[in-house]
Order: sequence, then structure tokens, then C-alpha cells
Amino acid sequence: MRRMPDQSLRIDHARYVVTVDAQRRIIADGSVLVENGRISRVGKASELGGARADRVIDARHFVVTPGFVNGHMHISYAHAVRGIFPDDVGSPLDSVFKLQMAMTEEEEYLTSLLGIVELVKNGTVCFVDPGSTKFPDACLQAYADAGIRVIMGDCVTDREAPFPLPRYPAAEAIGRTATFLDKWHGRLDGRLRAWAMPFSADTCTADLLRALKRLADERRTSLTLHHNSGDKARQEYQAKHGRRPTEYLESLGVVGPNVVLAHVLGIDDAEIDCMARTGTTAAMCPVTAAKGGRGVRENGRLPELLAKGVKVALGCDSPNNSNHLDIVRALNMAAIQYKDARQDMRQIPAETALELATLTGAQALGVGDEIGSLEPGKKADLVLFDTERPEWQALFNPVNNLVYNADGRSVHTVIIDGRVIVDGYRQTFVDESRLYGRVQEVGERLLARTGVSFSRSRWPIV
Ligand SMILES: [Zn+2]
Repeated sequence: MRRMPDQSLRIDHARYVVTVDAQRRIIADGSVLVENGRISRVGKASELGGARADRVIDARHFVVTPGFVNGHMHISYAHAVRGIFPDDVGSPLDSVFKLQMAMTEEEEYLTSLLGIVELVKNGTVCFVDPGSTKFPDACLQAYADAGIRVIMGDCVTDREAPFPLPRYPAAEAIGRTATFLDKWHGRLDGRLRAWAMPFSADTCTADLLRALKRLADERRTSLTLHHNSGDKARQEYQAKHGRRPTEYLESLGVVGPNVVLAHVLGIDDAEIDCMARTGTTAAMCPVTAAKGGRGVRENGRLPELLAKGVKVALGCDSPNNSNHLDIVRALNMAAIQYKDARQDMRQIPAETALELATLTGAQALGVGDEIGSLEPGKKADLVLFDTERPEWQALFNPVNNLVYNADGRSVHTVIIDGRVIVDGYRQTFVDESRLYGRVQEVGERLLARTGVSFSRSRWPIV
């Protein structure tokens, strides 16, 4: 299905428009005018009242925010088998990659479609799939139908890994990445971006990492990889490379404003300085960190990263890690987990959390000039929250209510590139109930085929 943007759209008399503009204005009784896929005016409803529009959305019960970005969101296999890992499984990665590698083209299309439905219905307009999609040709239709912005890549490694990852000789990995970037970058009217995606520094040789960064630079695109540190990793890297993990990347030149390090748990002050000095950005997954018992008190450095000016996006990681795809819940976690970990309520205020999912996150992903705030000239990516719900009462401070009371369930309308993608809680690009049934079948088949098996429940299912 191809949808043309409404020629013009006026969001009228919003209870609040949270602009995240340079002054961080929150406009009470505000309106937003969208023309040809871009925001043309933002202001008081009284100022925009006369502006002509093909469609007018009565927003008097809505809080309007920029569309959300999700900086690390594996959407391939996991919806089909979500929730299978018991809490005491330890690392599920061996099973994760076994399941992922076993997906057929049609299965991946269906699970990706479901992932996208969940993402957009919770307000995400742009996400990074860190190389988990095996069949981008098949999934392209899902991205096109949903109208969402997708950043994708071909996950490559050229070293032995503790779990089954796509591994190629370095030259082949470089060739695949070059082909991928040339084929995909800029498609879907620019909504699709392709990045270089080595899995991690541990699973790739120095030569491969250097070559992929060079490719990203030459093609004017970005690179992301999984990256953590911590005492043990620092000792190992010191012994092997004479440097900390993040400094090792710097020594290879795999840093800079077009490098997004995912997770970044356990990094120390010198590593944060390295990121700040080089403009390297991060995508952190607060719910994954909490659910995985990753020790935010010791290993979470989000406040220090932000204090040094490092741009950070939030991610939901995977439907078997966080396990939801609701960025509003992720920003809630980012706001509350540091307060607890540091026993200091001043850590990560609600406004900072909201910035991570909007402007700061967009900047971290290199799309801050286009999206992330509601300002004239930016792409028209907006979320309209329905405040006619109990969790939004009473409404005095829309940012506090959004971050601490609400979640993605109050997302009423989502607009991407000026197109209304979710309209009155409903998307129109797929029959959801039929899709749920098919994804359940995919899950049953996939478990049977791979032999991955866990007890379905600790409690008896009778
Ligand atoms: Zn990941």
C-alpha cells in the first residue's frame, strides 16, 4: 500500500505541545501546521487558527510530542518466541542466535511486521535494527507499508564468537557491507538508512573494524556495534591491547560522531572522556540493563555521559530482553533507575529522559537535523497522547505525567513524514488479529525446528 501524505494537516488546540525546541517551550493550547510532510508552523492555536489545512485534528485532549527514536531495537526473531526464557536462564544468547539464524524469509517478514506494529503504536517513528534482519528484501514491504523510519545493516563478524553469529572472511564482510550500503541507503524517500554493523569489537578483527568505519565515512553514513566495558573487560583489553576497550576503538579510528556504541555499560571516566572528545554517541537500553541484572549502580554511567555532552539515545533492545517495544516505558526506566542506584532524586530528571527519546536521541543517531523536535522545517513526525485516560489525571505538568504516569498505551495518533500512521489507536497497514495468529504459529514451528526448549511455565498450566 502506498500512502501519500495529506497535503496539509493542522493539529488544532492541543492541550499542550511539548516542542523540545531550543527554548524547550511547552505551548498550552497549541497548534502545529504540517505541509508537504514537514512542520511549517508551531504556535498558539490563536495564531494558527486561520491556517488552511486539508485535514484538521481536534487535539484539545491531546499532549503532542515529537516522534520517538529507538536507538537499539532488534526486531527479527523474538516476537515469535517472546517470553520463553525463564528468569533464571542466565545468558539466553546461544538460544537467541540459534533461533534468529533459523528464521525463514516469510517468518522474518511476519515477526518484523509485528515488531513494527508494536513500535509505531507506542510512538516510535525511527528505530535502529542492529543487523538482526536477515532478509531485508522481504522486510522492505513491512517498512514501506508502515511508513516508519528504519536504520538497518548487515551484521558481520570475522572472528570466533561464543554464540552463532554471521561470520565471514574479512574481505567478504567488507564486500557485503559495501553492497548493503549501496543498495539500501536512502530508500523509501530517505526513511531507510543503511549503516555498517559489525557485531562487536570482540567478534571482529581490527582490520575489519577499520575497513567498515572507512566505508561508513566514505558513504557518509554511520556505524554501530555492541560495546560494553567494566573491570574484567578493561583488564583483558589492557593485557591484549594495552588500552581500555573504548580506547582500543579509538586506536583503530572506530570512534566519531557517526559511531553509535550500544549499551556502553561499565565504561569508566577515561572511556567517557574518549567518547566526549571524539563525538562518539551511545544507545543505552535501560530496561534490558535492569531486567538483566547488569548493575546500574556500578555500570550505568548515563548521567556522566550526558554531563560530558555525549549524545545518547535509548533502545528497547529485543522482545526477549526488555521485553517490550515501548519507548515510553524505557524513558521511565531511565528516569527512575538512576535515582535509585545513586540514591539521589536529582538524577535524570523527567525532561532529560524525554530528550533522550526525542532530540538528544535523534542527534545520537545522526538524524537530529530532521526529527526529534517540533520546529518549522523539520520532518513532520509527531505523537499525540490521549489525556482522556486515568493515568493522565490530573494534568499540570505534561512532561512529568508522560514520563512517570503514562506509557505507550495512551498513544492515540502517530504521524511520520506528514502521514497519519496510527489514527485513533488504529493502524491500517495490517490485519493485527490475523498477524498475531500467524506469528504464534511461527513461534511453535521455530521452537520445534531448532530444538530450543524451555519449560513453558514455573506454574502448572493445566
Ligand atoms: Zn543488540
